Amino acid sequence: MSFSTATTIEDFQENLRAVREKMDKAAERVGRDSSEVRLLPVSKTVPEERIRLAIAAGAHQLGENKVQEAKRKHANLIDEDVKWSIIGHLQTNKAKDVAAFASEFHALDSLRVAEALDRRLELVGRSLDVYVQVNTSGEESKYGLEPEVVPDMLNAFKGFESLNVKGLMTLAIFSDDKEAVRTCFQLLKRLRDEARDRDPDLIGPGELSMGMSGDYEIAIEEGANIVRVGQAIFGARSTTDAYYWPGGTTK
Ligand SMILES: *Cc1c(COP(=O)(O)O)cnc(C)c1O
Repeated sequence: MSFSTATTIEDFQENLRAVREKMDKAAERVGRDSSEVRLLPVSKTVPEERIRLAIAAGAHQLGENKVQEAKRKHANLIDEDVKWSIIGHLQTNKAKDVAAFASEFHALDSLRVAEALDRRLELVGRSLDVYVQVNTSGEESKYGLEPEVVPDMLNAFKGFESLNVKGLMTLAIFSDDKEAVRTCFQLLKRLRDEARDRDPDLIGPGELSMGMSGDYEIAIEEGANIVRVGQAIFGARSTTDAYYWPGGTTK
């Protein structure tokens, strides 16, 4: 896939419009209301000057994979109307930073991280919306809970007062095989539905955070409520995906 780099406010307006149009069409194809689907632009690797243009074009909530990078951008863009979502794997020693400035966390995948976040949030008197990451592709390299443990872990996460579980998150398999990608999204939806059936309190609104530049239309067809889209808005990245998830490959 080729994505050209957005360098003006107009470029960003056009890219955001084009992505939203594809989102609307995908929702329409399966009879969903596109207002059920939120676009979360992902600004990782993009420097602050260009992020300002994206904000001016209407992107007021941005996803970042790495806490360190998000922390720097949060500080440098403190004058802007923008909130930050951490969407990548978290180490417990970074929980303090996430608790300090993030408005969402999309990659909760262990009790240790839940404990660390909850403790830090309590200290600063904040709460955090979280999505529980599931490994739906069976690839060893992917972060996230194994599907089998999701029910027990949702139960355990209920005990953390400062964490509001909003739903589930996944990364589909990196493959050109669209049906293999679709199967990952279907699994996440099934896990959400099963959790809801067991106990609606386990999973809040039960939102599904799934779909990226290469597969967000499929994700919406399969029930996504949040799509995390970087390159289709900001342009191609030079860092390979292996930097963000071990063993990852570029598409
Ligand atoms: C980078 C990233 C995305 C967006 O990927 P694009 O290919 O830029 O759309 C989505 N989710 C996570 C967890 C990411 O790290």
